[in-house]
Amino acid sequence: MTDKIYSTDAYARESDATVVEIDTDDGRVLLTSTVFYPGGGGQPHDVGTLSIGDDRLDVVRVTSDGDRVWHWLEGGLPPRGTVVQAAIDWERRYALMRTHTAMHALCGVIWDRFQSPVTGGDMKPGQGRLDFELPDWNPDFKLEVEAELNRQLELRRRVDVSFLPRQEADQDPSLIRTKVSLLPPELQEVRVIDIVGLDRQADGGTHVHNTEEVGAVTVGKVESKGRGFRRIRVVIDELDMGVQP
Ligand SMILES: [Zn+2]
Repeated sequence: MTDKIYSTDAYARESDATVVEIDTDDGRVLLTSTVFYPGGGGQPHDVGTLSIGDDRLDVVRVTSDGDRVWHWLEGGLPPRGTVVQAAIDWERRYALMRTHTAMHALCGVIWDRFQSPVTGGDMKPGQGRLDFELPDWNPDFKLEVEAELNRQLELRRRVDVSFLPRQEADQDPSLIRTKVSLLPPELQEVRVIDIVGLDRQADGGTHVHNTEEVGAVTVGKVESKGRGFRRIRVVIDELDMGVQP
């Protein structure tokens, strides 16, 4: 199994690791440990490089299969036993961390006001969307949600990561904010992201340490996605490229 550094230290951007397995058919390798997030929970996988001395291979895709994290490489495959210096594209990842935490803060704001579960979501660096079951929505709510979301982020709330035994997690249904639980049945330990005082949920993604790192956000156009369902888009102002999410 791969030691998942990103799971306990989201700010680790580089690490040394050893190649433990290569898959020549698919052009991918397993490492002893990794700083590369393999994607999941709406957060895209990282990209970056593996360096061996002066040689540099691009990591173009990262996937996880159970406990193992695969790095899909361009430019060749290092043999088993090679020590590599792994580095993620930090600018992109940090933008995703800010975006992911903003998405959870939005969950908290919507939950407090409407007790609405999330039915879907997606994010890119600097922008994201969440779908909610929201039967009683009116257009004025958009600005109210935006104001409340920014107020919550400005409160400089701590974002804590913890791990709960599966049994304990199963006894706390509030940890699952999605309409359908996405926890694999075989999962023994559940990772929990707690925006202290605002939102606490099971999650595998990478987050900032404090909501002040997110900065100011804008809630975009809210779309109706069928009866009782709304899609809410959020853009981090500082990272806004002028494109609608
Ligand atoms: Zn999440």
